[in-house]
Parts: sequence; structure tokens; C-alpha cells
Amino acid sequence: MSIKYGISTRAVHAGERPDPFTHASSPDITMSTTFAVDADTGFSVEGMEEDDAWIYTRWGNPTIRKLEEKLAALEEAETAVAFASGMGAIVALLLHVLKSGDHAVVSDVAYAALSEMTNEMIPSLGIEVTKVDTSDVEAVRKAIRRNTRLIYVETPCNPILRLTDISVIAGLAHEAGAKLAVDSTFATPVSTKPLELGADFVIHSLTKYLGGHGDALGGAILGYKADLVPLRKKTSIRLGGTISPFNAWLVMRGLATFPLRMRVHQENALKIANWLEAHPRVENVIYPGLPSHPQYELACRQMKNFSGILTFRVNDGKEQAHRFVEKLQVIHYAVSLGHHRSLLFYLDSESLQQTSFRFSTQAQTDSWNKYAGRGLFRLSVGLEDAEDLIDDLERGLSL
Ligand SMILES: *Cc1c(COP(=O)(O)O)cnc(C)c1O
Repeated sequence: MSIKYGISTRAVHAGERPDPFTHASSPDITMSTTFAVDADTGFSVEGMEEDDAWIYTRWGNPTIRKLEEKLAALEEAETAVAFASGMGAIVALLLHVLKSGDHAVVSDVAYAALSEMTNEMIPSLGIEVTKVDTSDVEAVRKAIRRNTRLIYVETPCNPILRLTDISVIAGLAHEAGAKLAVDSTFATPVSTKPLELGADFVIHSLTKYLGGHGDALGGAILGYKADLVPLRKKTSIRLGGTISPFNAWLVMRGLATFPLRMRVHQENALKIANWLEAHPRVENVIYPGLPSHPQYELACRQMKNFSGILTFRVNDGKEQAHRFVEKLQVIHYAVSLGHHRSLLFYLDSESLQQTSFRFSTQAQTDSWNKYAGRGLFRLSVGLEDAEDLIDDLERGLSL
């Protein structure tokens, strides 16, 4: 759907049209794994084009394709490939871009499963990985080598909400002949358009804001056809991380209200961030929409919506986690984020550094400490009434 339409119109209509046979206004779900084909149909994906007839759902499916078209319209990307989860998308991207002998620069703080995978599994394939604080442009510049093929960043990054300047890092990547991939799950397409800023690939966990209702896992890679048509063959169809048509339909249903939801996520998060900042038991609040965020200037420049995730610290995080579980009546104490329901979870710095994040310089540790201290509560602010969420937090924080 043409970008002459606004993002809310695209969220409702892109990828969908009334069914040509039944005239149903809402899209049906095509669960079929296989499709009746003509006698000349080949048995390999090798010569496959994006608009070929449907053959087998792992290769392509009408419901999944509708989702991909809607995602591409929202991100203003040439095309999209959907996956069964965000991690499915990330693995497919890494294995598509990198081969033995290549080098990748990866954000030292990122989604834990990506961090863990790039600690051991990816290096075991003969691919070198350097972890750097990608908010530090000089650190990224120094990490680049002759064989660097990929720079991978997450902005805002999970869980500390540190930002990376996409256009500056895109410049460095392209000077070195490398591609830039941006995990934009926290920002979403209403906030930041990494492709416009020079990225080659955008990754979303559809499980979060885009699906938005906590009932379907999904992931996507968005970008240019020259990259994604071969990627679909190599690491989507052959590795098999295909999204279920049912989940694709659920995510698509969630997407229709996504721009609307993001406005309320941001509005609620800003109210709560301000309230937490004034709370006597709260030591520190990190939210890109607060002037106290260490990169507020970059946040204003790069984010048109500050999204709905904030972090805060108290002096006794572990004990406070127990109080929250006992006392909260509205907010769920649970992992994940971006749902209509508010979710809160405590992340302990020491254990995260053992399991996921391995810093090699003092500057990396200092940066982590500045954002996360000894541990932080990550609050994904939902769509409830802000006053009820504040009452719930007040109840949870009372001693
Ligand atoms: C959740 C998340 C992922 C992984 O997505 P899944 O759908 O859980 O596999 C990747 N990146 C970020 C930033 C996330 O928050």
C-alpha cells in the first residue's frame, strides 16, 4: 500500500483486500500446508520468485504474505520475511549474512538470547564476533576489521534502554563494506525508521508491540528485495522457522491498532516515568522520553514515539521483587513486553553478566552501571488507565 496513506490507514488496510470469492471484508486464515499446483511445478525453491503461485506453506502462504505486506508498508521497506519468533528472524539473518572467516560487531548489551548465541554458537561456526557498546562510535570504529560483514545493534536496547545513533553507525558499516542490522523491537515503526537512516535490515519481534496482545510469537526481517529474496530461500525456507498462519493472522489483527496503541503506551509511560522519578524509594528512572535520559538529545532526534518501556531502580531490588509479586493487583510480574497488559520484571546485573553479557573493557562495565546499577526493574507500560498503574506501583513500593 502506497506510503501516500498515513501510518494508521496502512496499519488497517495494507496487505488486505476483500476476498475475491466470498467478498469477506476481513481476511480469512489459510491453514493449508499444501496447495494444488499445475503439472509443470518444480520441486526446488531455487528459481522461486516472490509472487509465484502458492506451493507449500513453509515456502509461502497467503495469510503470512498478507502479514508481510502489512509489515513492509508500516516500515516503508521493499519487503519483509516473517518468522515463527523474533529469535527465528535473528538466527536466519546471522546465518544469511555471515559465513566462516567473517567478522561481526555486535552490541554488547542486547536481547539475552542473541547475546548468548553470539558468545558461543556463532563463534563455533568460525565467525568472529566483537562485542562493543554501540552507543560509543569510537568503540565501533575500532572494532571494525577487514573481514567485518555485519554490525548488529538494538536501539533502544533491551534491557537498559541505551540508544545507538543509527545513521552514524550505518556510515561506518558501509565505509567498511559491511551491512547494518537494527533490532527495532522497542522503537517500532511509529518511532524510528532504521532503513531511512541507512540500515540494511530491520528486525522486529512481532511478539511485542506489533502483535501487541501477548498471544502470538512472531518475528520479521525487513529490508531490500536484493537481500531478502535470497534470504527467504536460504535461511527462512531451508531452516524452517516459518510462522504459523494462525499466528500471522493474530499479529495482523493486532497490527491494525498498533499506531493507536503506541500513542497510549507513550502517554502512560511518560506519566509513570515522571511519577517514579519523584518517588522517594526510587533511585533512578531511565526512559527515552525523560530529559534525564543520558541520551535524551539523540532520543528526540531518532524517536518520534518514546515507546512504553522504562526501567527503574530501588536500593533493595531482589526484596522489592518479592513485594511486587505479593502486592501488585493490576500489573503482571512477568517477562516480555509490548503487550496491552502492563508487565514488570526484575533483572539482576550480576547474574545477567554471568549468563549473557560479557564485557571486556572498563568503559563497557561503566556504561552498564550508569544505566542499570546493580539491577533494574523493567516495566512495560500497558494500555490500562495510568492512574490505576500508579496506584498499583504505589501499593507495590510501600514497605
Ligand atoms: C523479545 C525480543 C526478541 C526475541 O523475540 P521472540 O519473539 O521472543 O523470539 C528480540 N529482540 C528484542 C529486542 C526483544 O525484545
